Amino acid sequence: MKKSGIFFCLVALVLSFSMLSCAGLKSANKSGREQLAIGKQTDSVNLKHKLVTKGKPGADKLTITIGATGDLHGRLFPYEYSICEDKKGAGLSKISVLVKKLRAENPNTILVDVGDTVQDNSAELFNKLETHPMIQAMNYMGYDVWALGNHEFNFEKEFLCRNIRNFKGAVLSANIKNTKDGSNFVLPYQIFNVEGVRVAVVGAVTPHIPLWEASSPSHFKGLKFEEPIIALRKTVDSLKGKYDVLVGAFHLGRDAEYDSKAGAIEIAKQISEFDIIFAGHEHARFATEVDGKNGDKTWVIEPGCYGWALAVGKIKVEKKANAWKVVSVTAENLKTATVSESDKDLEKEFKFVHDEAYKDANVVIGTVTEDFIPRVDYITGKEKVTTMPTIQMEDTALIDLLNTVQRYYAKADISSSAAFRSEMNLKKGKFRKRDVAVIYKYPNTLMGVKITGKNLLKYMEWSASYYNTTKKGDVTISFNPDVRAYNYDMFDGLSYDIDISKKAGNRIKNVLINGKPVNPKKLYKLAVNNYRFGTLKKLGFVNDDSVYYDSYEEMQDAGRIRDLIIKYVKEVCKGKISPSDFSKCK
Ligand SMILES: [Zn+2]
Repeated sequence: MKKSGIFFCLVALVLSFSMLSCAGLKSANKSGREQLAIGKQTDSVNLKHKLVTKGKPGADKLTITIGATGDLHGRLFPYEYSICEDKKGAGLSKISVLVKKLRAENPNTILVDVGDTVQDNSAELFNKLETHPMIQAMNYMGYDVWALGNHEFNFEKEFLCRNIRNFKGAVLSANIKNTKDGSNFVLPYQIFNVEGVRVAVVGAVTPHIPLWEASSPSHFKGLKFEEPIIALRKTVDSLKGKYDVLVGAFHLGRDAEYDSKAGAIEIAKQISEFDIIFAGHEHARFATEVDGKNGDKTWVIEPGCYGWALAVGKIKVEKKANAWKVVSVTAENLKTATVSESDKDLEKEFKFVHDEAYKDANVVIGTVTEDFIPRVDYITGKEKVTTMPTIQMEDTALIDLLNTVQRYYAKADISSSAAFRSEMNLKKGKFRKRDVAVIYKYPNTLMGVKITGKNLLKYMEWSASYYNTTKKGDVTISFNPDVRAYNYDMFDGLSYDIDISKKAGNRIKNVLINGKPVNPKKLYKLAVNNYRFGTLKKLGFVNDDSVYYDSYEEMQDAGRIRDLIIKYVKEVCKGKISPSDFSKCK
């Protein structure tokens, strides 16, 4: 790529770590919590509405308290297994301390999770249990509501349905329908009677699950996802007269994605009946008051991800002329980093989760002879990125490794891969399983697709829109804030330049495959992950008939790219990899 000069500064989020000593862990304590799922289980659910009562009526003035988490992504303990480090501001066992404080103030607190609960942080190790430990922990803590997130659909539908059936509260989503009869897959809402006040909680999820799971339609078999604002409008209308307080529990970010009509903010504006909305999906940390179309205000709050905070909404209500009226609403994120202790009882109960995940993370799969990226920060050379990540600035051995693995298993001419973490690296020394999660954050699978030269070039242009066009007087390159880093793919199997002095769509230059220019009509074999396959399909560059290889179809869970990296290192490289010669180890 061509660039002029570099002067750019990213404010890095500095988290303080303290190492948790893992030396003293005892063997797993086998308990009912480790019960395996047995027999062939159904992949359907049949949830029924039931009113939940909390406390007794009496007072004419009271406060309804709601606590919410979201995007926990397997953070039961305040611990990151991919790097084996203690995390101060994370984990359900820290959240539990805050929940206990909230319940001490108000025993009738409603506890909600807005989804993306089971995937990541080694949570997949427990998918074979009858009930996933994250769901068990939510039951243990007395969660009232679980609104499903998109990552709940990363696995077979049978796994999701087991968790839905075994969650003790209400599982919500107003916009997931059974294709066969248009009925609701889970409950659209749950009504609570809190000390005589009727509180309705309505759920919704991002509608793009079929796009992201395009390579595994079995994950959402028999389901369709409606536009959230349309399904919510219908649900709220159906609830007219049945509630005094209306709460949204949405796995939706602030703004709409792709061609969707509305994110959480627009919903707050359009459906002014909501008194407070708990949002998720975006992994953002905010609490904001939105002006609704009827002149009223609605709080929208999101507690970040991984258990960064417990979002707390307090709704003051008063009885006037025999009807409850909302007097005021406040919303605030209570940060877990401010809690010094975690819930030791909960941690004891789920000790087997920590033991198993820690053991798995430390399994040695080989040796790395040299650091893959010698300068992680492009300017400072440090391992923490405070200016620009080298991995997105130049061709690195680390992205080459990912692309080599993808090309090898998909038997492809070309491969593309993004850097999911700006600080990812493979360091000299033992190559452990946990190092794989550092270089490959998601449980993606591998797809081989046939793409025309013409569409390949369009795809490369799409990816190169990650950069801003350089302007006169610029002393640095900069990134387009509308493009997420995980949507910047780097290509292998061909050579090319990115000319960022040109506008997006006209930047890819000098593309050569085996020394020859790209033939627009020729079909090339391209290796991509299953998410990117969904993107390429949506962009119209490939379709279902373009697929010639699907690692998930061939190997199921063993076909995840992380597992293929391990397989490649063990079997092809015989356990030894170095940045200069891993591609030769085949
Ligand atoms: Zn998430």
